[in-house]
Amino acid sequence: MKNKDLKFDTRLIHAGALDEPFGSATVPIYQSSTFAFKSAEHGAACFAGEDNGYIYTRIGNPTITALEENIASLEGGFGGIATSSGMGAATSIYMALLNQGDHILSTDAIYGPSRVIIESHFSRFGVESSYVDSTDIEELKKHLRPNTKVLYIETPANPTIGITDLKACAALARENDLVMVVDNTFCSPFLQNPLEYGADVVFHSVTKFINGHADVVGGVIVPATEELYRKIRSLMVYTGCNMDPHQAWLVLRGVKTLSLRIERSQATAMKIARYLESHPQMAWVRYPGLPSHPQYELAGRQMKGYGSMISFGLKGGYEAGKMLMNHLELATLAVSLGGVETLVQHPASMTHAGVSREDKSSAGITDDLVRFSIGIEDEDDLIADLEQALKSLH
Ligand SMILES: *Cc1c(COP(=O)(O)O)cnc(C)c1O
Repeated sequence: MKNKDLKFDTRLIHAGALDEPFGSATVPIYQSSTFAFKSAEHGAACFAGEDNGYIYTRIGNPTITALEENIASLEGGFGGIATSSGMGAATSIYMALLNQGDHILSTDAIYGPSRVIIESHFSRFGVESSYVDSTDIEELKKHLRPNTKVLYIETPANPTIGITDLKACAALARENDLVMVVDNTFCSPFLQNPLEYGADVVFHSVTKFINGHADVVGGVIVPATEELYRKIRSLMVYTGCNMDPHQAWLVLRGVKTLSLRIERSQATAMKIARYLESHPQMAWVRYPGLPSHPQYELAGRQMKGYGSMISFGLKGGYEAGKMLMNHLELATLAVSLGGVETLVQHPASMTHAGVSREDKSSAGITDDLVRFSIGIEDEDDLIADLEQALKSLH
């Protein structure tokens, strides 16, 4: 059966599998930096692109190809480009799509470093940028410039959990000749496939949900067309943002259980979000599965589930949040997300510390915001942990 005829859960396990001579049940780790040519003529043909034989691992490697094809199949794109990290993916995309004098229009509350690299570094090469509330399409329209070339969306946004309308963004991109890029890390391909809504490029920090076990850093980019695939792949190869074969093998192992992990963690997240919302010490709770979320209806339409990321603020502000984080025993105080273990962190002083105070506040990244990434532990144990930590605030 062809990959495209298979359902999502089957593709998780089988898409990208190599035609391997020994019948190995898993994709082997080709831990080799270079590959022998059969002859001088064969080597020349590989370099000329007339033969798709492997040359050198920065350019390509069978274990990495297996992962690239797996994720490309899950997102429904032309092909996959594996990178050293999620930031390696973002950098390859930015470098491939932005020229001197171009403008990038983006979500204000995005992963901190994705914004910092543009504002602090690409700005040195003449790239202009605007970070706006993309949950409001009119805001995006207002900030279009004649030199806008890239529309870069993160939804749900990090860490405010704001939801941006992907279909409306794709229409805006078409009308204005923009390349639309979506950071789909918070959803994984299980919850949302941005290419289906008309995005041109989707990428993941596979460090998070796709690998899911907090033991790898990596990224994968999936462009919709061959042209974009070639353009971005070239940047990955020449900047050396490539993945390593062992990294790829670990991610291939992790991705197999993606559906099981997310089904479990989002069911628990819903219970925890309701528990938090009904707790008298909470000032506010943001979870796309709660009717109180400002884009609750859009989330239900655009995502296949509500995910496992929750943000909240305590009535006692940052001081209370800090005490809560210090008193949690099961939830680990750490950045990152999307793993089997529950993590808690404080974005204003941690992941978004590099974003200026002013920009944080206009993006809604308030000092009291605490972010939870719910894992797959027993839900009663997680709620009991919260209960004891909240009690300790008195
Ligand atoms: C973690 C993360 C990144 C960066 O990925 P790394 O693998 O840490 O380089 C980008 N976007 C989002 C939404 C992330 O959560």
